[in-house]
Amino acid sequence: METLQNIAPMLATAAYIVASLLFILSLAGLSKHESAKGGIIYGVSGMALALAATSLLTVTKGWNDPTAQLGLIFIIVGLVIGATIGLWRARVVEMTGMPELIALLHSFVGVAAVLIGWNGALYHPDTPENLMGVHRAEVFIGVFIGAVTFTGSIVAYLKLSAKISSKPLMLPGKNLLNIGALVGFVALTVWYVLTPELGLLIAVTILALALGWHLVASIGGGDMPVVVSMLNSYSGWAAAAAGFLLSNDLLIVTGALVGSSGAYLSYIMCKAMNRSFISVIAGGFGIVAPTSGEEEEGEYRETDAASVAELLRNATSVVITPGYGMAVAQAQYPVADLAARLKEKGVTVRFGIHPVAGRLPGHMNVLLAEAKVPYDIVDEMDEINDDFASTSVVLVIGANDTVNPAAAEDPSSPIAGMPVLKVWEAENVIVFKRSMASGYAGVQNPLFFRDNAAMLFGDAKQRVEDILRAL
Ligand code: NDP
Repeated sequence: METLQNIAPMLATAAYIVASLLFILSLAGLSKHESAKGGIIYGVSGMALALAATSLLTVTKGWNDPTAQLGLIFIIVGLVIGATIGLWRARVVEMTGMPELIALLHSFVGVAAVLIGWNGALYHPDTPENLMGVHRAEVFIGVFIGAVTFTGSIVAYLKLSAKISSKPLMLPGKNLLNIGALVGFVALTVWYVLTPELGLLIAVTILALALGWHLVASIGGGDMPVVVSMLNSYSGWAAAAAGFLLSNDLLIVTGALVGSSGAYLSYIMCKAMNRSFISVIAGGFGIVAPTSGEEEEGEYRETDAASVAELLRNATSVVITPGYGMAVAQAQYPVADLAARLKEKGVTVRFGIHPVAGRLPGHMNVLLAEAKVPYDIVDEMDEINDDFASTSVVLVIGANDTVNPAAAEDPSSPIAGMPVLKVWEAENVIVFKRSMASGYAGVQNPLFFRDNAAMLFGDAKQRVEDILRAL
C-alpha cells in the first residue's frame, strides 16, 4: 500500500497528461461527421481515465485518515448517483430536448465552481501566507464566473424549454446595469484581497447570480443558440477557475479547452447569424427593441399531398430545407425515403441546412445522418443559397425563422440581418407546418403569403408519408 501511496501522484500526473491529449483528439474528431464517433470515444476514454486517476489519488491519500475515508465514501456515492442520473437522462432525452439538457448541465458546473470557491475561502490550510492575496482573487473569480454560469444556464434552460417567454427582457438602462455589475465585481475583488470578510463573498455571489440572470434574460429567442454555446464557454472557465483553487492541472486544462472552444463556436455562430459577438456575450448590449409591430398578413394558398406529389413528379430539381418541426414530427425517415424516391425518378434532390435550424447547432445534420441520408446531398446554407433561383420545388419541412425573407428585406424585423435560406427565389415553395403560428423568434413570416408559396398543413411526418403514397 505504501508503494502505491508513493507512486500514486506520479501515476495521476501521467494519466492527466494522457487524458488532456484524449480531450484534444476528441475535439478534433467532433469537428467532422465522419470522425465524430471516434471523437466521442476519445472523450469518454479521457474522462474515464481522469476519474480513475482522481479516485486512485483519493484512495491512496485517505487510506489511514478517517476524514479522508468519509470523503471517499462521498465520492463513490456521488459517482453512482451522478452516473445513474446521467445515463438515464441521456437515454430518454429527445434530440429536441438536448439544448435545454445541455443548459441544465452547464448550471451544475456553475454551481460546483461556486461551492469550490466558497470552500476555498473557508478552508485553505496549504496556502502560504505570501500567496493569500492571489488565493483570494482566485476565490472571487471562481465564484463570480460560476454564479453567472449558474443563473445564466437556468434562464437558458427555462427559455429553451418554453417554461418562460423567449422574448428579451428590456430593463431600462440594461447596459449600465451590466457594466455596473462588472465594475462592482472588480471593486469587491480588490476589497476582498485587502480585507477578506465573509460579507464581501456573500455580496459578490449575489451580484454574480443577478448578473447571470439578467445577461441571459436580456437575449431574445433568435440569439439563444449563441447563448448556449457562450454558457458552454463560461462553464469551461468556471471549471478552470475551480482547477486553480484545487491545484488540479487536468481541471485547468479541460476547463481552458471547453472555455476557448465554446468561445470560438459562439464567434462562428455570431458570424453565421450576422450578430455582433461582443453584443451577444454582453447580454444583448446595444441591441434596441424592434420598432416594427406590424405583422404582415394576407392571402395564403393551401395545397394537399396529391398536388405536391404531382408537382414533385414534374420537377427537375428539389431542395429540402428542414427545421425544428421536422425534429418534432420525427419526419426524417419518411423525408429520407422521399429524397431517395425522387432520386430514383431522376430528380436532383439536395438538402439545404441553416446553421441554426432546429434547436442546437448540427441538429438537422444529426437527424438526417440518423435516417441515412448520404452526406454528399446535404449542403450548408452558403453552398446552396445561390441555387434556389434555379430550383423547381423547395420543400420547407417544419422550418420557419431560417427561411424568413423579412430577415433579408425588412430592416425593422427583430431578425433583420440574420442570413437565411433564400427559398422564396425558387419556382415553387411548399411549407409543411401545422398552423400559421410563428417560429421560435416569434416573428411573422411573409414567405407564407408569397404567390409562389403554398401551405401544406398538418404533422410533417404524416404529410410526407401521404406524398410518398401518392407518388
Ligand atoms: P422555427 O422554430 O422557426 O419553426 C419551426 C416550425 O415548425 C414552426 O413554425 C412550427 O409551426 C413547425 N412545426 C412544429 N411542429 C411541427 C410538426 N409536428 N409538423 C410540422 N411542422 C411543425 O424553426 P427553424 O428550424 O426554422 O429555426 C430555428 C429557430 O430556433 C431559430 O429562430 C433559431 O435562432 C432558434 N434556435 C436555434 C438553436 C440552434 O442552435 N439551432 C438553439 C436555440 C434556438 P406550427 O406550430 O404551425 O406547426
